[in-house]
Amino acid sequence: MKDRAETLLSGFMNQIAPRHPGEAEFLQAVEDVARDVLTIEKASSDFTASRVLERLSEADRIISFRITWRDDSGDVQINRGWRVQQTNLLGPYKGGVRWAPEVTTSVLKFLAFEQAFKNALTGMPLGAAKGGADFQPKGRSVAEIERFAAAFMAELSHHVGPELDVPAGDIGVGAQEIGLMSRAWMQQARRWGGAMTGKPTALAGSAMRAEATGYGLIYLTEAVLTEVGEALAGKRVAISGRGNVSRHAARKALTLGAKVITLSGRAGTWHAPDGFTHETLDQVLASTGDDVHSPSKDRQVEFHADTKPWRFAPDIALPCATQNELTLDDAQALVESGCCYLAEGANMPLTAEAGACFAKSGLVQVPGKAANAGGVAVSGLEMQQNAGFAAWNADKVDRKLRAIMCDIHDLLKRERTSCCTMTGAIDYRRAANVAGYRRLAQAMVAGGVL
Ligand code: GLU
Repeated sequence: MKDRAETLLSGFMNQIAPRHPGEAEFLQAVEDVARDVLTIEKASSDFTASRVLERLSEADRIISFRITWRDDSGDVQINRGWRVQQTNLLGPYKGGVRWAPEVTTSVLKFLAFEQAFKNALTGMPLGAAKGGADFQPKGRSVAEIERFAAAFMAELSHHVGPELDVPAGDIGVGAQEIGLMSRAWMQQARRWGGAMTGKPTALAGSAMRAEATGYGLIYLTEAVLTEVGEALAGKRVAISGRGNVSRHAARKALTLGAKVITLSGRAGTWHAPDGFTHETLDQVLASTGDDVHSPSKDRQVEFHADTKPWRFAPDIALPCATQNELTLDDAQALVESGCCYLAEGANMPLTAEAGACFAKSGLVQVPGKAANAGGVAVSGLEMQQNAGFAAWNADKVDRKLRAIMCDIHDLLKRERTSCCTMTGAIDYRRAANVAGYRRLAQAMVAGGVL
């Protein structure tokens, strides 16, 4: 059985790889799914005849454009922008926009591909897309961000709309930037509409959208623990990053009684041996420039330069920074120090080697497709509110978010018979790929050859 799966996988990847030369991240994401779903495709004559995975691996279209804008010194700046419209099988194209210098077509293609499976798991009518620009927003003035956002939307506006494609935020793009882009779209479209999600609440954004990914991550982690008769309270939780996902995950975990022991940045890790308090968390999140190394005057928090959070022996690891942040060395350190659970707040944070190490170790690994789906789920709720001219309060959105994360857990649990680890536990990584694939494959077969 294993050999057959490996043969199918290598045959499939040999066919796909030459079509995407040099796009390592994209091929890594496709291989991760193909490993789990090719046997399911082969077992169904409809899925096989429809060539489902091959079609899902090719975006509907990729729009690539130049962004020209003027910086505060009056100099002309040129950047590249993209929108990868992956599939609108299940609903309008949907996914974030990332502004970061390391954005490439390969990165956006992998994110759009992952988004298709993630959005399918939410059970909502959401297609998949991802976009971005090779632009570094850090260090730019408000006026520069405004000019860049307007220049970015001069092109992107042609391709988005409430029933067409609904971008949101991602790394480097928060509510403020989405607000600017949303207004730019309305000005060009000459109408009001929810063409973007993650807007400021003052501009028809949903309550709880900022918190959604981090809170959702903790709700799903709780469901995973409850399944095996454990609780979050008292567990040592290591979190990487200190952006939107990390900070809200940290706050929710803390509120639920967990011991959050790390946050991190490019320069190193903040370690609170006895766990952060809300106050010490505030200090780390507010620290910039010179005070980064000594945020805590009372020494409850230590800064370790050039060190990752995975060296501090957590019970639960929550990588929330970026793709491929957790390497084989980190995975080995986590396994050796007795870490039992890992849930991905970031998209594809494990290198393929780290993932393989965890698969052998028995550590329970919840992939980003499921674990960080709370963000796009609340985006889906924002689309519902905008379309229905409604505004729900934070309590209502939070309750719906929690229910969606529990439903995702139930969906994965239903795959248990074919998706379990050597120890008989639910293999969440495989279950997410299989459950997402089934929903997309059924839609593709029902929709014919288009
Ligand atoms: N960028 C987020 C993600 O990776 C959110 C996407 C959205 O809300 O559309 O899922």
